[in-house]
Amino acid sequence: MDSARTHTSPPDDVRSTAPTGRALATEAVHAGRDDLAAQGLHAPPIDLSTTYPSYDSRGEAARIDAFAATGAEPDGPPVYGRLGNPTVARFETALARLEGTEAAVAFASGMAALSAVLLVRGSMGLRHVVAVRPLYGCSDHLLTAGLLGSEVTWTDPAGVADALRPDTGLVLVESPANPTLAEVDLRAVAHACGSVPLLVDNTFATPVLQRPAEHGARLVLHSATKYLGGHGDVLAGVVACDEEFAGRLRQVRFATGGVLHPLAGYLLLRGLSTLPVRVRAASANAAELAGRLAADPRVARVHYPRIGGAMVSFEVHGDPHAVIGGVRLITPAVSLGSVDTLLRLSVGLEDVDDLWADLDRALGERAAGAVPPREALATAD
Ligand code: PLP
Repeated sequence: MDSARTHTSPPDDVRSTAPTGRALATEAVHAGRDDLAAQGLHAPPIDLSTTYPSYDSRGEAARIDAFAATGAEPDGPPVYGRLGNPTVARFETALARLEGTEAAVAFASGMAALSAVLLVRGSMGLRHVVAVRPLYGCSDHLLTAGLLGSEVTWTDPAGVADALRPDTGLVLVESPANPTLAEVDLRAVAHACGSVPLLVDNTFATPVLQRPAEHGARLVLHSATKYLGGHGDVLAGVVACDEEFAGRLRQVRFATGGVLHPLAGYLLLRGLSTLPVRVRAASANAAELAGRLAADPRVARVHYPRIGGAMVSFEVHGDPHAVIGGVRLITPAVSLGSVDTLLRLSVGLEDVDDLWADLDRALGERAAGAVPPREALATAD
């Protein structure tokens, strides 16, 4: 059962120091840009090249073969866009610094990123996946349908250890989870995994609120489409991990082609520079709205994660579709994580009173019916 609490202020456990020792806000602005000043540049260049001059054709062929075999970043100039791109590499460097991992590998979408992880483990004969529900619907579908040849055992966090088999290649959790905002004790699950890699989908929390690698996760996945990009104009995914796994992911990316476009890499790097500010401001708005919703007799239940964040979900008395149809400032949409507020409720950076006025009006649109007494705000668990 959800436990009740009031929560009207932003979480004070938002961490401010990156694993590098520099403040997270500083890393967010500077990581991936360290070489710019020496080049006489301020904004990062966008390298749209698909291919690069190569006069030493034997040497070039050897570098491509070596990359295909190991996935290790080639020395020297870039080779071809499917091996890697300098602009995308800046984003990867920055995200790895924020998550506290050795490396990160970017993909064309969050689903492409998850697919690459499954292909890496499947290609090693480790096709069995242990996964904790709820997961984002398409991740659930990918595993349930076995589209990439994986076989899934669904369990709850307490059942992870018992669900492991000799051919288990991955344990997968999402926290807070889409859509219920349920939270998982990452350290406990990482312990239960033993030597099997734990993948945490950290899309909702972002490294501002939670860094799963510090709790023992080997792989940290983001739909970068959401908070990392932050402006609703980039589709992207990324896995932060150790260099060994990153090499395998680059091999798969090279062979299957789910690369991120350089312009998207640029926009993501720019998005990261405001990530801490956006997450904190949106979290403050979300906590305030969660409190107001919880106090409203038209609302049956509010879910808000213990770690905070910008996502709130709530249940209304009456017809939720009427509420969705009733908002004017807020945009009803399936995605989340943008600067503007999207209903399912991904709280943005607008003035909180304007947002409340919109919700208040929309709640008035819900189908009339008996309204039970108000119920409390609940954490999602
Ligand atoms: N993980 C989570 C938690 C998501 O919410 C989503 C998309 O909504 C994904 C993964 C998939 O990401 P993408 O849509 O970038 O492929």
